[in-house]
Amino acid sequence: MSHTPHFLHELVGSMSQGADGNPTVAMVEAAFRHHGLHWRYINLEVSPADLGTAVKGAKAMGFRGFNCSLPHKVSVIAHLDGLGESAAVMGAVNCVVRREDRLIGENTDGKGFLKSLESLIDPRGRSVVLFGAGGAARAIAVELGLAGVRHITIVNRSERRGAELVSLLRDRLRLDARLVVWGGEYAVPEGTDVVINGTSIGLYDPDARLAIDLDTLRPGMVAADVVFNPVRTRFLTEAASRGCRPLDGLGMLVNQGIVGIQYWTGIDPDAGVMRRALESAMGV
Ligand code: NDP
Repeated sequence: MSHTPHFLHELVGSMSQGADGNPTVAMVEAAFRHHGLHWRYINLEVSPADLGTAVKGAKAMGFRGFNCSLPHKVSVIAHLDGLGESAAVMGAVNCVVRREDRLIGENTDGKGFLKSLESLIDPRGRSVVLFGAGGAARAIAVELGLAGVRHITIVNRSERRGAELVSLLRDRLRLDARLVVWGGEYAVPEGTDVVINGTSIGLYDPDARLAIDLDTLRPGMVAADVVFNPVRTRFLTEAASRGCRPLDGLGMLVNQGIVGIQYWTGIDPDAGVMRRALESAMGV
């Protein structure tokens, strides 16, 4: 006799600290509904001290997987059975997938960004400038490296964090990477194909500006932002006014959700349904 009654919903979770008001719940559940899946995606507030027990519990209860956000992205690794390629390189997990009876850690942030970018440009052989060296920038840089970009310049305020990321890219991915410590207005080098704000500058602040020499942004360049609230950041508006092709952070967020759903369910969810649900949950 099966131990799983067929009417039971499949469960996927989102483990974070302070889990209230997470707009991605509406996005993922809209996709489940749209595709007729009797699945639920639920918020689970987990303290750092309880993380190991929570992961064991999710496994014991047959969860198909879960997302995890700060402060669990690194510490969760000790409780998993294995890691996907990019999660192993960056040492951070935001998406756990049950494969047979093993919990495998993946990182969908960078993959979400890459999927968005690929809607505008093939990253192979491209030259990229990336502002930031925190979690989001790290995920993006590793995924771009695995996707075959030619060169990446990391521009970061803190030299230590920037240097760590550049060493990771050079040592683990053999990528042509260099660091510029950010001070004053950064001039984007000629020949750059993609400029990315991977910092939190602009989050909830439509007036915040990146210290960048706008005259060095050229028509046709892709200008991308990880910040998704506001959707149209000042950086994107200014870059678009110089003829750049803008890519907003909401696209990255939707696409990381798509990759997670693909991992958990095997289906290819409808991006439009997910984006509309996310916009409505965020009130944008
Ligand atoms: P971290 O705290 O790990 O990193 C923040 C980065 O921003 C660091 O490089 C930091 O530089 C830089 N930074 C912050 N303030 C300033 C400033 N005033 N001047 C210069 N540099 C600054 O954050 P995350 O990487 O986790 O998140 C960054 C952003 O990405 C957030 O807005 C988050 O919401 C967004 N995000 C979006 C996702 C999406 O799907 N669209 C997914 C994940 C994150 P330093 O090292 O010098 O401190």
